[in-house]
Parts: sequence; structure tokens; C-alpha cells
Amino acid sequence: LALSACGSEREGGETPAGGASGGTGGFAADSLIGVALPSKTSENWVLAGDLFTNGLKEAGFTGDVQYAGASTTVADQQNQISSMITKGAKVIIIGATDAAQLSAQVDAAHAEGIKVIAYDRLIKGTANVDYYVAFDNFKVGELQGQALLEGMKKKKPNGPYTIELFSGSSDDNNSGVFFDGAMSVLQPEIDKGNVVVGSGQTQVTQTATDGWKAENAQRRMDSLLTSTYGSKTLDGVLSPNDTLARAIITSVKGAGKPIPVVTGQDSEVESVKSIMAGEQYSTINKDTRNLVKASIDMVKALQSGAAPQVNDTTSYNNGVKVVPAYLLPPVIVTKDNAAEAYANDPTLSALTK
Ligand code: BGC
Repeated sequence: LALSACGSEREGGETPAGGASGGTGGFAADSLIGVALPSKTSENWVLAGDLFTNGLKEAGFTGDVQYAGASTTVADQQNQISSMITKGAKVIIIGATDAAQLSAQVDAAHAEGIKVIAYDRLIKGTANVDYYVAFDNFKVGELQGQALLEGMKKKKPNGPYTIELFSGSSDDNNSGVFFDGAMSVLQPEIDKGNVVVGSGQTQVTQTATDGWKAENAQRRMDSLLTSTYGSKTLDGVLSPNDTLARAIITSVKGAGKPIPVVTGQDSEVESVKSIMAGEQYSTINKDTRNLVKASIDMVKALQSGAAPQVNDTTSYNNGVKVVPAYLLPPVIVTKDNAAEAYANDPTLSALTK
């Protein structure tokens, strides 16, 4: 007891970066913790909301979990964060709707001594983001690029392979990181001529999917099929997530073309079914339970006056500072390893039987 009263400064053996946000003093165990999530553009966000509500309650905190609406996302989220500040939250966890539009709210939180944790998506342009907790986004992209090549090779042992590239919403910092990770694998193959982007659209600006919306990916795929794939065969599509993967597959089916190798991310129920049925080729398992738990562990550390554990202090520069991050490892999933990958997830594992 005497020892713990002195309080060891840290829990995880990593020194916190960002001196400006040091000097944590702890706060009451039943404090208000705000969680501001984006709109429900994929299943992971729906899961996260429930997990935060339950997990914060179990840990003894008073949780306030909010989602941005479907259309006025940025203003909604800004207002929700402002209201969490007014209500006296001690920590605000934010899954940003728009990485670049939250600095005023984050700065206002900091001015009140509130800690800000960026959840899954980095917040840019402010020194007052204290921590970032996410899956390793660059690795997600690398795994997608590798799966795309491997899937195409299985169907057709030798190239050249014709592909198309899709990326996520440009207001989400993750979109560029996923794309860069994938291109780190695909670009050398493109340079060798082993992989050809049929439309020639290789820039993240050309491949972006506004708002991560399925209808936008479907529309772009429809128009690519018309402009480029009249007679040419499309071997593969880099899709940044499952929602968009299914939209791309819907488009291809609608055009009466064979389904190419399509990647994904999030292990959404409909995509796991599609993978087991041999349509979508791959997804990524980013177990939301682990990400929420890691975030709540950070809150617990802050509550006790300790520095949360981080394991990356170099990767996530938000334009003003490198945000200390705790990154979790993503797992690639295809039909071959689905049973194993989802073994400890009752919902998904039932789909692999
Ligand atoms: C998340 C992905 C998700 C996407 C769309 C990204 O920031 O990391 O898991 O598919 O947003 O919701």
C-alpha cells in the first residue's frame, strides 16, 4: 500500500512523449468519459459504441458515447465534443469524422485539462492530441497489397495482372496510410510491369471514396467497367474495406463480369459470408474488442495518475507533433485461415463452420 501510494509514474515501461501533456494527476474513479464516434460507415463503429458503453460502465466510469449523424457529420461531432467539455469529461476519446476539423475542440478540451485520445483515426493539426490508439494502419495496407497479389497468383500463376485501386475517404487520415501501405507492396510490381492499373488511376486523389460510402465506390466501379473493361479482364481490385469491397463486387456482378480478387478490411459479417462463399477474397481482422479495451486501459491509467502505455512514438506525425501511439497488430483473413482467425469470436467463427 505504501508503495502504491507513492505511485509509480508509469505502467507500461514506455516513457510518454509530448511533455506539454505530462503531469497527470488522476481524477475521480466515476468521472465522465466522453466517446465521440463518427457516423456508422462500417460495422466496427457500431460495435465500438456498444463496447465503450459497457466497458466504461464496468470500469466504474460514467460514459457518454455519441455518434456523428449521417450527413452533418463534422458539425455534429464538433458539437458533441464541446458538450462533453461543458459536462466536465476528464478524458474524451475521439474517432474523428474529419481529421482536420477538430483542432478547435481538441484545444478547448486541453485548456480544461481534459485528455484527448484519438481512436482508430488520427486527429491532425493540433498539439493537444495526447494519445493515439489504433491498429497498425500501414500494416493493414501492406497485408491488403500482399493478399491481392497472392489471390491473383492462385487464379493465374503468371502475370501481368490487371487491377484497379480504391482508397477511402480523403478526410480520414487512415485512407492515405492504408493506401501507402498497399502501394509499398504493389508499386514494385507495377514498376516491373507485372501488375498494370487498367485505368491508369494510381493517385490517392483519383481512387478516393468520399465518405467511405458504398454507393460512391459502386458508381466508380461501374464507370471503370464501362470505360476500361469492355473486352479486357480485370484480375483484381484493391478495396480498402469490406463495405466498399461488397459494393465493388455488386458492380461487377451487375455488369455480368467474373468477380476479380477483391480485398477488404473489418471482418464485417456479410463479407465473411462472401469470403466463405468464394466471392470476396480477403479481409482484415481488427478485433474491435481489443481496440476498445486498449482505449479503456489508457483511461484507467490516466485515472490513476499514471502514463498510459504506448508502443510507437515515431509513426504518427499529425502535422504539429508526433502523437504517441499504442498500435495493435492487424490479421489478414482469407477462406484458408478464417476458422483459425475468428476462433475466439463467437459470431464470426459460426460463419466459418
Ligand atoms: C477504419 C476502417 C473503416 C473505415 C470506414 C477507417 O478509419 O480504420 O476500419 O473501414 O474507417 O468506416
